[in-house]
Amino acid sequence: MAEQYAQQYESWNELAKNIAYGAWAIGVLIVLGHIIRLATMNDAKAKYDFINRSEIKTLWAASIILILGCCFFANSNVEELSALWIFVRVFTTVSMGMIVALIVQNLLKFYYPFYIEKRLKVLRYKPRISPKTGKPMKLLSEDEEDAYLDEGMQAEENVFSVDYDVWKDLETGYVKIEKYAGHLHAIQCPECNYQTFKIVKEEIIKHPSPTEEGELMKHYQCGYCGYKAKKHVTLKMSQKFEETTTTATA
Ligand SMILES: [Zn+2]
Repeated sequence: MAEQYAQQYESWNELAKNIAYGAWAIGVLIVLGHIIRLATMNDAKAKYDFINRSEIKTLWAASIILILGCCFFANSNVEELSALWIFVRVFTTVSMGMIVALIVQNLLKFYYPFYIEKRLKVLRYKPRISPKTGKPMKLLSEDEEDAYLDEGMQAEENVFSVDYDVWKDLETGYVKIEKYAGHLHAIQCPECNYQTFKIVKEEIIKHPSPTEEGELMKHYQCGYCGYKAKKHVTLKMSQKFEETTTTATA
């Protein structure tokens, strides 16, 4: 009887170990896959979007799988088992796993964005290369770029916390326009200083008319400390404003 039980534990221990190794392998592969995809992207803007969109999610998923692996590994040395032991093991495993997951989640949510932000900044302002001449292009200033943005884009820049960067090849006149969305991108919170301050809502208080400027309210909220702030933005006088917002949202 006792031997039979010992054998049962043996096969469980074996299985738990294999699950752990499998989980660790998958976790590492997920991270490697992300690094390789990033390395094979040539375009700085594509890299920017990829990091902004998926890096934290990917690392979080990989972490969960690695932690699950650890949970199985920690239970691959079963020698005796009673109802009490099962309870103790399950309880400690689940609570330890959750503590580690919580720590990782906090690191990813509040510290990792600083590191991401630095890399995103470098990618955004890295001189774009003109496909026509192979030479670096020039990033136009806010005033210069208006000539290359249509009214819909300009209205969007005004109202929807969207930034357009215009890169111009001065030799050939080739232009590359890149869109950066503010609501997808957190900035530093003035209260807690974490990189967790995001636009949560934008409302037009007054539409601009041909004779009067409009008014826009941007609502920010911190994902860490909950600090809220409002920012008033004046909208330029515009004749075609109503039409351009419709095209922008259509
Ligand atoms: Zn904050």
